[in-house]
Amino acid sequence: MPALSVPDHLRTWVEINLGALQRNLAFVRKHVGPQPGILAVVKANAYGHGVEGVVRALARDTEVFGVANVKEALEVASASTGRCVMLLSPCLPAEYEMAVRSGYIVTASSAEEALAYSRHGDVRVNFKVDTGMGRAGCSSALAVDEVHQMLGMERVFLYSISTHLPSADEDADFTIAQLTSFDVLSDQLRAIAPGVKFHVLNSAGVLTRPDHRFDLVRPGLILYGVSPLPEYSMELEPVLSWKSRVVLLRDLPAGASVSYGRSFIAQKPIRTALVAVGYADGFPRQVSGRGASVLVRGVRCAVLGRVTMDQIVVDVSMLLEVRLGDEVTLVGRDGAERIDVDDLASQAGTISWEILSGIGRRVEHFHV
Ligand SMILES: *Cc1c(COP(=O)(O)O)cnc(C)c1O
Repeated sequence: MPALSVPDHLRTWVEINLGALQRNLAFVRKHVGPQPGILAVVKANAYGHGVEGVVRALARDTEVFGVANVKEALEVASASTGRCVMLLSPCLPAEYEMAVRSGYIVTASSAEEALAYSRHGDVRVNFKVDTGMGRAGCSSALAVDEVHQMLGMERVFLYSISTHLPSADEDADFTIAQLTSFDVLSDQLRAIAPGVKFHVLNSAGVLTRPDHRFDLVRPGLILYGVSPLPEYSMELEPVLSWKSRVVLLRDLPAGASVSYGRSFIAQKPIRTALVAVGYADGFPRQVSGRGASVLVRGVRCAVLGRVTMDQIVVDVSMLLEVRLGDEVTLVGRDGAERIDVDDLASQAGTISWEILSGIGRRVEHFHV
């Protein structure tokens, strides 16, 4: 990566490669073909990537931006891309008026919910059907009747009908059965609601079911270059690198203990670097003692003992030279070495989505 002018005083930051983001979107476009519109999911501050820059970079081939709530929708709207914004989760009743007045597409699980929004004005609705996620949505058996009711409502404009896949990356049989049942339902619904858009596929669905003919697709994670399925990792380019700096260097004698709980004891004299990132920045405490490492001057260095709120201790004994202020790569590439979000997630016993969306407020953003 070319040298960036990251100010020396920054302690912890993420570098966002907007070119990579656009190439991942182009990959999605190639994968699903020219037909479906893209509903780019940018909730949770665009998975920790900084929503404004992401939205601007994706706008050209995006039809709708998907977010979780009204506050996030306002952030997308402030980027002024002119694209629609869809609220993917239900609003609180106290948010209905704001959602309707702002012109967002709301997600409703029943005709009654759609009606409640429409008391505040004309509203575009994404009607959600539950085909196995068991979260929001209307049961399939009631869907036709609910749609009939909504079509009769004066201020409700049915924009789309959707469902969500709970295990597109884990259970192909269940997913195929789910898609088949939604196909049957959508044939019925298309007949009574012409022009309404149907959508189902999240990232794992986009990767595994590109042949499926829906009007919109809803990729999130893959836009950011992280694949829910390892076999597609090579097709995608990570968008985010996460960096911090060395803030203190020390030499510890054999027998010295490191960090809370003294879970690490030096077996021989070691050189340690204190790095300015902790779990308050989103660096997962769960990686403590599980073989996590960071990159300093292109060398993989072990994280010693427990991750603390503001700092980690790293073994830099093998480095010939290390200085205060040196860059430390937590996620990304340094020389021949690379740490992926997936690596950090699996060491922490969690998923990439949680690592990315957990990157904290103290972490600065650089769009390159
Ligand atoms: C978050 C979300 C997505 C995107 O999921 P990825 O697995 O990140 O692609 C798609 N649809 C809905 C309804 C979501 O909430």
